[in-house]
Amino acid sequence: MRTILLGPPGAGKGTQASRIVDAHGVPHISTGDILRANVKAGTSLGAEAKRFMDAGELVPDEVIIGMVGERLAEPDAQGGFLFDGFPRTVPQAEALDEVLVTRGVPLDAVLELVVDHEEVVRRLTGRRTCAGCGRIFHLVYDPPSTEGRCDDCDGELQQRADDREEVVRNRLEVYREQTEPLVAFYEARGQLRRIDAQGEVQDVTDRVLAVLQEAAGTATS
Ligand code: ADP
Ligand code: AMP
Repeated sequence: MRTILLGPPGAGKGTQASRIVDAHGVPHISTGDILRANVKAGTSLGAEAKRFMDAGELVPDEVIIGMVGERLAEPDAQGGFLFDGFPRTVPQAEALDEVLVTRGVPLDAVLELVVDHEEVVRRLTGRRTCAGCGRIFHLVYDPPSTEGRCDDCDGELQQRADDREEVVRNRLEVYREQTEPLVAFYEARGQLRRIDAQGEVQDVTDRVLAVLQEAAGTATS
């Protein structure tokens, strides 16, 4: 399965991705997670990316394309992948195309998670992430059993620096200007599937899995 999750920050891509990969056994490749791991480890890539991330801007295409190329060369990505947060610009989508054409493998589907603006802001400002295992919580929609601690590993729950309201506004604007054009890009190729991502997490997962099953059926028929 080779799939992309598209949608604004806070649409639920990370939340759904961790459930989809359980069901499909492909790696979840989140460019945001890779960048944050680099920032944490103090690599030169992390140092370069941090100022863009803190401002809610996109990291330059050449940095992202190089990073994804390396990730796709790893053994676990040979049987498929689920991208979360990549591609985010038309040049990134074109670079991915080149890699897939070279390998002779098509994309199975691009799933657009559709959520209204106010809900996205509520989701982002209440998001808390475990510093230990990366599990995503929400203060209201998915609170931990013990305040501030992860249910899975007891790690500390943290708010992402870029989930502060002033940065959130810029990230949504950046999405509208630079990433939303990908909806038309993939729609023109007949690869886009829209999914209503409002409502309960499990209901959204059920819709995603149904669409993926349908896409797999289309690919083999
Ligand atoms: P993205 O990866 O698209 O930025 P996340 O998966 O991190 O989004 O979700 C953003 C926040 O919204 C998290 O705090 C998550 O717990 C919460 N969330 C995700 N899906 C839903 C949903 N269907 N209903 C309510 N809250 C949700
Ligand atoms: P995310 O975790 O997907 O919300 O990404 C967090 C931040 O990482 C974004 O606001 C960008 O600064 C950066 N980032 C993640 N993925 C990309 C990408 N594909 N292209 C450019 N910047 C990215």
